[in-house]
Amino acid sequence: MSDEVRVTIAAQACVLLLHRDTEIYPELDTVLVYPSTYVAKTKTHDGPVVIEGDVPRLGESWERGLVVLAWDAVRRGTANVEDGHNVVLHEFAHQLDQEDGTMDGAPDLGTTARYATWARVLGEEYADLVERVHRGRGSDIDRYGATSPPEFFAVVTEMFFEKPAALRARHPELYAAFADFYQQDPESFARPAGPRAGA
Ligand SMILES: [Zn+2]
Repeated sequence: MSDEVRVTIAAQACVLLLHRDTEIYPELDTVLVYPSTYVAKTKTHDGPVVIEGDVPRLGESWERGLVVLAWDAVRRGTANVEDGHNVVLHEFAHQLDQEDGTMDGAPDLGTTARYATWARVLGEEYADLVERVHRGRGSDIDRYGATSPPEFFAVVTEMFFEKPAALRARHPELYAAFADFYQQDPESFARPAGPRAGA
């Protein structure tokens, strides 16, 4: 573990905490970093049948204080801040999601009014994405977000910080809900000079 690895991951993890009155990942004890994409053993149950498999992973977030990242994926995500893919933002968004005790796609929002808005806006957008994926139609939100509400929250977090203009233009209420939670307006951030990739 080098300082380059530590700083690259910590700096991006901190982006999700800026301007928010919050703890610094209170449940998180360990960030485990593999050199490259790693293979996780999985067991899924399909009725009485147990299917064991090897699944390649870029990262994962565990409810018991652990984030696992593949360094090559971290470097790829860091090198391009406008493609909407960032494994550090993704896995640390999962950590925020489970700070309130449940990983359900809603982090600790504080007020009842915010929960109501969150449930309505994210519920509609998630249902729309699931429908699009089901029908084989395209979407500007990564289809992995249709996996579950927690994945939707993590995927939209990546898009919020890396493709804010597109998110705001096509999903203004979703953008507003995330801007309210993260207390940031990434669309107003200065962008690197040159052609804007995928904006
Ligand atoms: Zn995820």
